[in-house]
Amino acid sequence: IIELAEFLSQLGHDVVRLTTGQNLQLRNLPEESLGRTFELVSRLFELSAAERFLGDAIACTGADTCKLGICLPRGALRAVLKRLRRSDLDLDRLSGCRLNLSGCPNSCGQHPLADLGFYGRAGRQNEVLYPEYNVVAGAVIGEGAPVFAEELDRVSARDLPEFVHDLLGRFLSKQARFQSFRDYVQTEGKQDIRELCEQFRPIPDFEEDKNYYYDWGAKEQFTLVGKGGGECSAGLFDLIEVDLRRIRELRKPWLRGERNTADGEALWEIVLCASRMLLITRGVEATSEENVFSSFEKHFISTGLVDPHFSTVVDATRQRRMDLLLRLAPEVHSFAEEIEKLYRSMDNSLHFPGESKTAGSAGILPALGPQASCLRSQQQPQALTRDYRQIACPMNFVKVKFDLAGMKTGDRLEVLLGDGEPIRNVPRSVVDEGHKVLAQSKIENHWSVLIEKA
Ligand code: SF4
Repeated sequence: IIELAEFLSQLGHDVVRLTTGQNLQLRNLPEESLGRTFELVSRLFELSAAERFLGDAIACTGADTCKLGICLPRGALRAVLKRLRRSDLDLDRLSGCRLNLSGCPNSCGQHPLADLGFYGRAGRQNEVLYPEYNVVAGAVIGEGAPVFAEELDRVSARDLPEFVHDLLGRFLSKQARFQSFRDYVQTEGKQDIRELCEQFRPIPDFEEDKNYYYDWGAKEQFTLVGKGGGECSAGLFDLIEVDLRRIRELRKPWLRGERNTADGEALWEIVLCASRMLLITRGVEATSEENVFSSFEKHFISTGLVDPHFSTVVDATRQRRMDLLLRLAPEVHSFAEEIEKLYRSMDNSLHFPGESKTAGSAGILPALGPQASCLRSQQQPQALTRDYRQIACPMNFVKVKFDLAGMKTGDRLEVLLGDGEPIRNVPRSVVDEGHKVLAQSKIENHWSVLIEKA
């Protein structure tokens, strides 16, 4: 790029601009410079010589460098382009069609303006998170009233290249019948998108194919920790929001008034997500559906945080009684609303109205688990010590929050944490919540952090 810049700098002012479509716009070039300019640009950008559809595709920086990012759209776009370039699709016939990817719902990759667009989210399969994209399509820009792309479905990051290939293949096979891609989306395209997304579900379990749980270009397994704000709290709330978003998505037909088309599977999933959503605030990492329902019963129904009459829908879901769930559809939706209301009422220390914050009260504090110990620190006689070396983010932070909630101002807590994400995230998040980190030191391959409660 320096070579190109040096060459252009000899041609006078105002010869290059950066466009909102992530392209360079070269202007005011003397005719005799065109040959050399073309040569430099072709060498610099592999895509400048590719079909226009590929060269015009846009992806934002994503979670690579953006703290709000969830997915890695640049890696996903590279995978899409690779897939399309080795296909036999006639990509020249897609000129002018916009393909846009954003790493999160913020629209830096301009997905709302896309003919076919995607924005990153977290999916969950058997309690393991994986990178996923919401699919949007059919934007209208230019003259007249603009229309944003409509959200239609979702597809895993891993299947995204194949999905794009298959959808464009379908479109090209019947392109003659449509004036534009938007025209296609408005008539048959929505159905095609939903059908294809359905074909790519469910994704394999982690043990079957780990690739689904690694984003494109990522060396580490997908996680929300350190994303969406870069702090433990953000990771914690993002985990909750994964379920909340899914509940809202599943409830859309009901909220639109489509009461006669109740879907037993959707009702089942609403109750599952609603039962799981707040378990993390109790320090519970549910590892199975059964564990979700039994933990929900223990921490929310038995404690009175949720009205016991909702046991009926939880039990019907636990037993997969679809016939009963269909009859209980209004109750299922009330249950979802109750859980969202409870979530909104939660305070910063993860407690709900009426709950005691005293350690050991009403079974609210999470069990410490086999790895945790409670000792008197030898260096700080007043400090309580917790060993969270074996507990991953953001659960270690949840446990620290609970510990601090049960202590008095000025009390000290020594926490043992693992190296890497835990020591990078937990002390910073503790300080963000107003507490003091008095000291932190590395002991062999773990860390000791001394906290003073605010
Ligand atoms: S869309 Fe999201 S991930 Fe992409 S740059 Fe904007 S905030 Fe970051």
